[in-house]
Amino acid sequence: MSDNGAATSGAERLAIGITLGNSNSSIAYTSEGQTQVIANEDGDRQIPAILSYVDGEEYYGQQAKSFLVRNPKNTVAYFRDFLGKDRFKSIDPTHNHASAHPEDVNGTVAFTIKDKAEEDAAPSTLSVSEIMTRYLRRLVTAASDFNGKKVTSAVITVPTNFTDKQKSTLIAAAAAADLEVLQLISEPIAAVLAYDEAREAASSPQDKIIVVADLGGTRSDVAVVASRGGMYTILATAHDYEFAGAALDKVLMDHFAKEFMKKHSGVDPRQNARSLAKLKLEAESTKRALSIGNNASFSVESLAEGIDYASTINRLRYETIARSVFEGFNRLVESAVKKAGLDVLDIDEVILSGGTAHTPRIAANLKNIFPETTNVLAPSTSATAINPSELQARGAALQASLVQEYDAEDIEQSTHAAVTTVPHLANAIGVVSLSESGEEVFEPIIAPETAVPARRTIQLLAPKDGGDVYVKIVEGNTHIKVTQPESKTNGTKGATVEDAKDSDEEDSDDEEEEEEKREKVWKIGSTLAEAAVRDVKKGGKVEVTINVDAKLSVTVTTREVGGKGGVRGTL
Ligand code: ATP
Ligand code: MG
Repeated sequence: MSDNGAATSGAERLAIGITLGNSNSSIAYTSEGQTQVIANEDGDRQIPAILSYVDGEEYYGQQAKSFLVRNPKNTVAYFRDFLGKDRFKSIDPTHNHASAHPEDVNGTVAFTIKDKAEEDAAPSTLSVSEIMTRYLRRLVTAASDFNGKKVTSAVITVPTNFTDKQKSTLIAAAAAADLEVLQLISEPIAAVLAYDEAREAASSPQDKIIVVADLGGTRSDVAVVASRGGMYTILATAHDYEFAGAALDKVLMDHFAKEFMKKHSGVDPRQNARSLAKLKLEAESTKRALSIGNNASFSVESLAEGIDYASTINRLRYETIARSVFEGFNRLVESAVKKAGLDVLDIDEVILSGGTAHTPRIAANLKNIFPETTNVLAPSTSATAINPSELQARGAALQASLVQEYDAEDIEQSTHAAVTTVPHLANAIGVVSLSESGEEVFEPIIAPETAVPARRTIQLLAPKDGGDVYVKIVEGNTHIKVTQPESKTNGTKGATVEDAKDSDEEDSDDEEEEEEKREKVWKIGSTLAEAAVRDVKKGGKVEVTINVDAKLSVTVTTREVGGKGGVRGTL
């Protein structure tokens, strides 16, 4: 860190990135352009968001998670989303059945646990904010130990649907843990930042539309993001609390519970709380193993009635029994694209984020939904994928390294531009050129959904022998052109059916099953400007610059490259 005393407080800041989930958290640190996700003292980079108290001693992370079996009542898990909820009735305690239960204390959420050592000490009722403060303290301690210096500040990620109340409650809970929140950034933007940073060395960020599918433990969140000239605009979001990692755990729990019942005269390990907790922990670890290998074991000592249980499952079987959950992810992603008013063909990139994104079948399914040209970034589909469990913490750490030198007010300013919806163009702006067959063709210069102000320049080739170049600037929008396969019309193609795999296709007169062809084509909209550049020399070029200001007014400048002067017009 630099020593220039830029921090307003006078004290030197040491800022990290934190991502906080209902299931896990991660901490990361960016220094000299290098970002690393920090392992805590247990060696974990995905740190379970759980606190547990045993004889007055506080445990967090993986150690607290293992206490879900022996000490569930004094263990608090799945609490992040309860933060700042002022109507107790609006919370969903589904995931808290196997640990401390949320309670209604004057409308806010609290947990009653024994957190003191004395045998006869009364249990404490702790607000969810207090739980968050205690948990954050542990994360900050881990990060400070790593840095050998006290961490003072953080950029923290939050879901896109966190309310203002939830945000201010989180900031207050952090302050109580002696942690300054420099900025809250939205989870999908953090994931995009992590990728953009990794690629920046190779090329400048390109304009594109990105789907971020964040698949966690208790919820899945999808965001459609337009990235234009380094500015991010969230076009649509979708949230789901049913299709997430816990639903996959449940599939495996049911599978092994039924297997156990068959072998052990109907004893159901789901009927007993401790057996259920063991079943859940092991099902989750079997599930993770299935993301890497084709086979995974399941083994629990004394699963129920003192009986040890060991079994195995292969990936194909898992993918079969979990099919309906997997399909839920597809629908969620498709619904977000639709909500943004887009088609899958509009999507340049799909970023898979969150622990559940490690699942190969989910990435494969998404690859099938999107056209081949869409880059699906997940460990199983892309060699350049970044660990989906680390994306958000990385993005937050990068942002922390960028803003830590600023004054509080300036940071405030910079938050809003990047994360909230800013004015943007509905249609593309481009030029019309003539194709060889004399048809008018639209060539985009500024893509739709670009945040304004924006400025782009392109160069057009002059006619072969030089002369006047006529430039027509228009709005353009896309539509999806559907071409039915020829074979549908029972065509006359030869009967080369040899390797047609299944015969239940009505007319399989071609080697590959033909699908209708869908492609994105531009439609020319209203004309914005026309200009002519006179006497361009042979082999010359004309440069067209389009400038759109914050009020969406457009200025077009055309000039011959290397020539002097130009034509300029404001609309
Ligand atoms: P939420 O807030 O939705 O509860 P989170 O954001 O805190 O979740 P993540 O760490 O993103 O949590 O996701 C946790 C989920 O990811 C868990 O269900 C976990 O079992 C699952 N998971 C972690 N690693 C893998 C893996 N390698 N393969 C499959 N699932 C995994
Ligand atoms: Mg998450």
